[in-house]
Amino acid sequence: MRIAEVLSRLRAGGAKPAQLQRLLRQWLHAKDSPGGPSAPEHSLSKSLRAEWATLLPELRALVQLRSQHPAQDGAVRLLLGLRDGQTAEAVLLPKDGLCVSTQVGCAVGCVFCMTGRDGLIRQIGSAEIAAQVALARSLRPVKRVVFMGMGEPAHNLDMVTEAIELLGTAGGIGHKNLVFSTVGDLRVFERLPLLAVKPALALSLHSSQAARRAELLPRAPRITPDELVELGQAYARASGYPIQYQWTLIAGLNDGPDEVEGIARLLRGKYAMMNLIPYNRVDDLPWQRPSADRAAAMCAALNRQGILTRLRQSAGQDVEGGCGQLRARQAQGSTRPVRMPPTNHPLTTRTERP
Ligand code: SF4
Repeated sequence: MRIAEVLSRLRAGGAKPAQLQRLLRQWLHAKDSPGGPSAPEHSLSKSLRAEWATLLPELRALVQLRSQHPAQDGAVRLLLGLRDGQTAEAVLLPKDGLCVSTQVGCAVGCVFCMTGRDGLIRQIGSAEIAAQVALARSLRPVKRVVFMGMGEPAHNLDMVTEAIELLGTAGGIGHKNLVFSTVGDLRVFERLPLLAVKPALALSLHSSQAARRAELLPRAPRITPDELVELGQAYARASGYPIQYQWTLIAGLNDGPDEVEGIARLLRGKYAMMNLIPYNRVDDLPWQRPSADRAAAMCAALNRQGILTRLRQSAGQDVEGGCGQLRARQAQGSTRPVRMPPTNHPLTTRTERP
């Protein structure tokens, strides 16, 4: 379902702008959950009350909780059921964050990602994206939403931007706390600057070398790292927020001095932050996680070069560590939390995908 349809049904039921916002807030803040304040229904006309009585249960049913998988760092991976029987993942993050999915499957096919293995299965509607937030808020507060779960938001741009505009208004999320994450697509750089609610932008870089990046992200648009950083700079100026560059750190592949030099060349003097995210090993995929020392050394080398760099961990990495793993496990008939060996990294407070 689209948010546009929700709005048009409420308007057809006679909702005035203030009532519309109040009803949307009731949905998005889970205010009919036990203990929450109820909607001021006495102020609604009979026809609007009747429409809302039908619509709210439909909105609540868009996304349902199939299972929860708590991790040691305070994150909770959620397996969500959609109305057509498909499943998607979301992650409750430490410090009131939520990572949402924008597609079931993904067409980009990053070689290190489970979600990309089966290609795109279907788009997630804008109301289904917002419903992930409403559902998460019935579990705990959500003040930050990152679009880094399953899917490439740029490939579902109408739905994702519709959800962003709702979450940044009736959803009560600060605009810089909405984080649009993409491998880079020209349509993103055209559309985001025009939005009334401008999200922060995260760009998945993974290599400073065009050929290596094309191998890692085989179906991403052919934008070179240099072009991507230039486009990112323009958006940083338009939004006022630094660009967060994402770098899945894979042993022997993109953790060497050549990439340190490449990143420094690309990002020196830019309004940007580099997030190095050591790869979480996935069965059946050949990639390895670099040692903690090597990852820390790369982070230190970049900071010495003047590039603001942080070493991050995927939240909830001890339960089905990368996006798509929980769903893949469910497709095999089991959603039991599978514990991975603890790493010697301290777990940090937010998630980035792989
Ligand atoms: S990492 Fe993201 S963009 Fe790449 S295949 Fe997985 S979901 Fe798609």
